[in-house]
Amino acid sequence: MPPIPSLPRWDGHVHSQFAPHGQFAPHGDPSATESFLQHAVSLGFTRVTLAEHAPLPDAFPDPTPDHDGNLSAEQLEPYLRHAADLRERWRGRLDILVGLEVDLLPGHEDHARSLVERHAGTLDEVVASLHLLPLGRDEWGSIDYSPETFAETARRCGSVAALRRRYLETLAEQIDRDACKSLPHRLGHPLLVDKFRRLFPETSPLEDSLAEAVVAAASAHGWSLDLNAAGLRKPHCGMLYLRGPMLAAARRFAVPVVYGSDAHRPEEVGAGWSEAVAEFEGSG
Ligand SMILES: [Zn+2]
Ligand SMILES: [Zn+2]
Repeated sequence: MPPIPSLPRWDGHVHSQFAPHGQFAPHGDPSATESFLQHAVSLGFTRVTLAEHAPLPDAFPDPTPDHDGNLSAEQLEPYLRHAADLRERWRGRLDILVGLEVDLLPGHEDHARSLVERHAGTLDEVVASLHLLPLGRDEWGSIDYSPETFAETARRCGSVAALRRRYLETLAEQIDRDACKSLPHRLGHPLLVDKFRRLFPETSPLEDSLAEAVVAAASAHGWSLDLNAAGLRKPHCGMLYLRGPMLAAARRFAVPVVYGSDAHRPEEVGAGWSEAVAEFEGSG
């Protein structure tokens, strides 16, 4: 029997002291990024990807109430220098990949493409995530900001089930457009749409086939998937943001899967690792 592939001891989705709006610590956590790295080493991780939120396009109509989830354009270079400096200073202790969490924004693929290409000399990889859905001309709906913004986005889509379908269809389309293809790239928290699942339990009968289409697109274009554990910490979710039939499809298609804590605080690095390993091993 072939050996069961195991999950690499790599936290592939970690924020930093530049996080402008940590979920638990508004306006970022004051702890220096090195506390995140120390925590990773103490748990036996050998690799970490720093993936701060990349700037949105200029004048983008960010629908989140605080407009501070992403780095500003002026903060991007200091963040990249900071991450690249840590990559050097921690060499031999921890393999640090310099990354960005880039928003997938339908119609703004040129922004993502030029951002990634401009910084390809510094960046090791990209986590590409869908946080906002287009609702109309210059109108966007938030998936994950709050239950209220999720409910409003669902209302605009027609229903929660319609929003869930639209989210998965948009993921597959964005993977096909492949704006970040000049660097290794991973789909961030594929099932982020579950963040408020306990409040909005409606599902769509098409969901499993749409989730499989996302995985097929990832396989065709060489993306990996973020086995993101942040949902375990969210009071209205309690689930991994990649699991069940979607994760099983990833195993079948041999799409690489990387655990991600999505830590916004040092002690969140590595959180949910054992649950992620159990889900991964149970899905093969
Ligand atoms: Zn994200
Ligand atoms: Zn993140």
